[in-house]
Amino acid sequence: AKRAGRNTVCFFDPQMQAVASANAALAADLRLAWRHQQFELDYQPQVDVNGRMTGAEALLRWQHPQRGRVPPDQFIPTAEETTLILTIGRWVLDRACEQLAAWSRRSDRSHLSISVNVSARQFRHPEFVDEVMDAIARSGVAPNKLKLELTESLLADGFDITVNKMGSLKRMGVALSLDDFGKGYSSLAYLKRLPLDQLKIDREFVKDVLTDANDAAIARTIIGLAQSLHLQVVAEGVETEEQREFLAQHGCDGFQGYLFCRPMSIERLEEFIEANLVQ
Ligand code: C2E
Ligand code: CA
Ligand code: CA
Ligand code: CA
Repeated sequence: AKRAGRNTVCFFDPQMQAVASANAALAADLRLAWRHQQFELDYQPQVDVNGRMTGAEALLRWQHPQRGRVPPDQFIPTAEETTLILTIGRWVLDRACEQLAAWSRRSDRSHLSISVNVSARQFRHPEFVDEVMDAIARSGVAPNKLKLELTESLLADGFDITVNKMGSLKRMGVALSLDDFGKGYSSLAYLKRLPLDQLKIDREFVKDVLTDANDAAIARTIIGLAQSLHLQVVAEGVETEEQREFLAQHGCDGFQGYLFCRPMSIERLEEFIEANLVQ
């Protein structure tokens, strides 16, 4: 029989063992990456029905010296298993607020918002609300230009505590968006009690919106739901004009996707903004 102390994890499956040590290696790599400042933020513009840019989503990138750019889906889950997600998350918030502060000083950019992805573990941290407050205070930005993208997985923590925290953020003036809407444990009962400003339709439903009647129905339902709850609704992963048109016709307010722009460095984003201004 295998004997192990209370805090010792026992692996019986060599494949699981391999996964666990790969994760441990990745976690160590991530700590190094943090120390060597290998993280970057890309930005992807969001536009309104008239094609005018309203803001951008900040998307984390890991510039690995050997592996090149590692996409977030490949390292965020591991970062979430350690406290590193808290450190990185704080950095993302600070960077986003600094960028907003720079835009706020220019009349042709002061209307732009930045959306920041918040992981469940980060949101759950007792100091999260204070950290957001500090980031806003340090940068001096208007709180409503900062949009936090939260996912439904937060609700697993208990409804009341989540609603309370969201309420504190709302009172601060920060905008709240529910990301990947429809993918998680959506329940209409909780939705109306969450102090949200925006719903984001996941790419999964946008992708085949023109060919799959179910996806079309889901997209229309989300838009209708958002409208009846007086929430703004943004579609992500919009790749074709036909998708954009379908969504716009059904009342979608905002769009994000390769049709307009891929996520890009802040330098390239500034060029996009200039081009968008003179339209
Ligand atoms: P997400 O929040 O759903 O972000 C949208 C993802 O869709 C991004 O992937 C974006 O690059 C991609 N995308 C945008 N438009 C299109 C399109 O037209 N077609 C296709 N095929 N894809 C499109 P990305 O950048 O790889 O990020 C993946 C996920 O990683 C994000 O999904 C988000 O959940 C997470 N993430 C990114 N940055 C952060 C961060 O700073 N903190 C946390 N906690 N999570 C982050
Ligand atoms: Ca997002
Ligand atoms: Ca997401
Ligand atoms: Ca998504």
